[in-house]
Amino acid sequence: MNQATDTSFANHTPMMQQYLRIKAEQADKLLFYRMGDFYELFYEDARRAAELLDITLTHRGQSAGTPIPMAGVPYHAVENYLAKLVQLGESVAICEQVGDPALAKGPVERKVVRIVTPGTVTDEALLEERRDNLILALSRRKGHYGLAVLDLSGGRFIVSELAGEEALAGELERLRPAELLIPEDFPLELLGRRRGLQRLPPWQFDPASGERLLCRQFATRDLSGFGCAELPLAIGAAGALLTYVQETQKGALPHLRGLAVEARDEALILDAATRRNLEIETSIVGNPANTLVGVMDRTATAMGGRLLRRWLNRPLRGREILTARQLAIAALLERPSHPELHETLRAVGDIERILTRVALRSARPRDLGQLRTALGILPQLRALIESLPAARLEQLKEAITAYPELHELLLRALVESPPLLTRDGGMIATGYDPDLDELRTLRDNAGQYLVDLEQRERGRTGIGNLKVGFNKVHGYYIEITHANSDKVPDDYTRRQTLKGAERYITPELKRFEEKILSAAERALAREKALYEGLLDLLGEALAPLQATAAAVAELDVLACLAERADSLNLTCPQLTHEPGLSLRGGRHLVVEQVLEAPFVPNDIDLSDQRRMLIVTGPNMGGKSTYMRQTALIVVLAHIGAFVPAAAATIGPFDRIFTRIGAADDLASGRSTFMVEMTETANILHNASAQSLVLLDEIGRGTGTFDGMSLAWACAYELGRVVRAFTLFATHYFELTALPEQIPLAANVHLDAVEHGDTIVFMHAVKEGPASQSYGLAVAALAGVPKKVVERARRRLVELENRSVRERSEQQPQLGLFSTPLAEPEPQADLLREALAAIEPDRLSPREALDTLYRLKALESQ
Ligand code: ADP
Repeated sequence: MNQATDTSFANHTPMMQQYLRIKAEQADKLLFYRMGDFYELFYEDARRAAELLDITLTHRGQSAGTPIPMAGVPYHAVENYLAKLVQLGESVAICEQVGDPALAKGPVERKVVRIVTPGTVTDEALLEERRDNLILALSRRKGHYGLAVLDLSGGRFIVSELAGEEALAGELERLRPAELLIPEDFPLELLGRRRGLQRLPPWQFDPASGERLLCRQFATRDLSGFGCAELPLAIGAAGALLTYVQETQKGALPHLRGLAVEARDEALILDAATRRNLEIETSIVGNPANTLVGVMDRTATAMGGRLLRRWLNRPLRGREILTARQLAIAALLERPSHPELHETLRAVGDIERILTRVALRSARPRDLGQLRTALGILPQLRALIESLPAARLEQLKEAITAYPELHELLLRALVESPPLLTRDGGMIATGYDPDLDELRTLRDNAGQYLVDLEQRERGRTGIGNLKVGFNKVHGYYIEITHANSDKVPDDYTRRQTLKGAERYITPELKRFEEKILSAAERALAREKALYEGLLDLLGEALAPLQATAAAVAELDVLACLAERADSLNLTCPQLTHEPGLSLRGGRHLVVEQVLEAPFVPNDIDLSDQRRMLIVTGPNMGGKSTYMRQTALIVVLAHIGAFVPAAAATIGPFDRIFTRIGAADDLASGRSTFMVEMTETANILHNASAQSLVLLDEIGRGTGTFDGMSLAWACAYELGRVVRAFTLFATHYFELTALPEQIPLAANVHLDAVEHGDTIVFMHAVKEGPASQSYGLAVAALAGVPKKVVERARRRLVELENRSVRERSEQQPQLGLFSTPLAEPEPQADLLREALAAIEPDRLSPREALDTLYRLKALESQ
């Protein structure tokens, strides 16, 4: 923009002056400025768009003495470009020509008619079907945060408050908002790198004006009915959010009728790292099928799919609601009508988002067509869950009201397969409105009328070659050659003279012309008005329709959980108040799906007296699978779902923590070890006796002594002080001595059998510590060549001998550990050789390195 504003406004062409005026009001958005068949972008916008959309950057003439950078997209393809920009977190203002070019002096009048931002899009084409598209507003005071979250396309508006950066990071990871509104003074370092960040003036987050705005929106006197009186920070954020959304929508938001408050302690809390590590919705390697959602989501409707994701991302602790869901699933399983229920649900479709578009008046004819189908099928859906013995299903059935009048209205009003857009009409059925029918008859029968007229006039005048025709300039005419001009009747008026003929008009033809020319136009206008009327009628029933949509979505999820329970052989967990959990034959759903070999189910028992398990065993033995499956089963149980186990009893849990794997957090410049220690510190600070903690190989980001000491100290703290339920996988064999110091700890190990140079993993969990070391065998399995493994074996013997010698010479006093251990040697040559030999798809260099280190750590006992 600088080039444009450097020089005085008046130096620009009138059109550029208009552009700059409009652009000044849309400074933070890309301005799409309509010129003919293109939307053009200028100056900095043009450069950005050219880069983001991979379109050509050109120049347009000159304004104020310099060429103007310009880039454009054709108007008919604009939706594709918008989708791309919104995905990249960009906002766009669309500026159309609204004036009449024929009347305009200077540039045609233009106005911004639509604003598209990542968090406020509701168009089907711009949204991901099965993911909520959220906009989040954040406010902050003294380490406390107010959150307001809006799912505009689903009509959900939620507020909450929380304390501390860690809690904030967890919520950001859970919600993954498409757009984030913050006051300008909000510390950016708390947010990480984010797309769709909008910084607003801090006064917009004022709680008092927030409350006023919200009351006006919900037409209430105060907010006490929503239970958020004590949440001023969140109300401030909600006010800023509402203002922002109202501005972008340029219209009313009748589908937002209230706020819901989410309290943090209602949910089983999963922090950001845990959500990623457990691969609930996103997979670490990026295959969405290999996530918990990927395996569990067989919902019939997109709104059901979104609800299931919401459940899995925020498991609940309230036993009542979980038990009610369990009973509903059990009841659905008793009457196995799944395929029929699934098909019926599928026919309902995504009415949640359709209803939002009805409310925002942007619903398209196809949306209403889908709504018509849905309303028609609701009675059938009710019948399918009739008299199933579960209170929750009964409630859902009640909410799935039938709407015979609305259904009948849509049947009458809409053509059988409505067009995509209202632009060219054709959506309203014949017989719905007599005026429309008449206009259409006129419009469509013009041809026949003119043929008839021609016949009649030929008869009347006796001119055999009399012709009726039409041209754009003069309209309808009757053409008569000069040879016949003496036969022209008196009521013919001359309109145009040609070389060999004269053209005439008659009063009848004139009347017809006026009617016909406007008929098409009036038919279209009439049709659009009728369509608006339909939206009005549907809008009146918006609240109950939304409740129906919500009930259908929940029924869809419960039916899906029942189907999954059946297909994946899941059992209903017993939820108890006894601390701990007990699983017979627990499985990992995702690993089980990808394995070709049969999955080995394993038991686990954690109780008040047995709170920590030290898990040892060879690399690749199944330690982390075992730990993760336990956490995933706890998550599933807390959405009310059945779980992959032969029997399951699950006590109360408040949070799940994980410290698994360690990728360098290159983005923030922290080393593996730093990341590991930050995450561990977080666990030590925030875990309680009701938390489930998974620690995988902590301490390996640093030297052996440091690492082992840290691992020991963390385990000690968790087991003796915090008393959290902890699964602790380690390759430090020394730590198997922990149960001697921590009465609540026990050893378990994953079994494997060494067979010559190779190793067979049994994947079965056994009591007691692992007794063998398998490092070399794992290296051999991973494709490290035999000669390298052999050299490693020789080197190991050497090291072992030396370590025994050193031990007897120095006797280092470690106290904590039962056996002292030597620092690993830098086995540079050997490592380099081993790394070079690794087949990349079998074992990562990191794993190979670990294998070699482990070799040392385990075998030096
Ligand atoms: P570790 O954490 O001990 O290195 P993993 O848990 O990553 O081992 O498991 C390694 C592989 O072993 C898994 O990818 C899976 O293929 C297989 N595996 C793990 N647990 C089981 C099991 N219970 N039954 C069958 N295969 C398993």
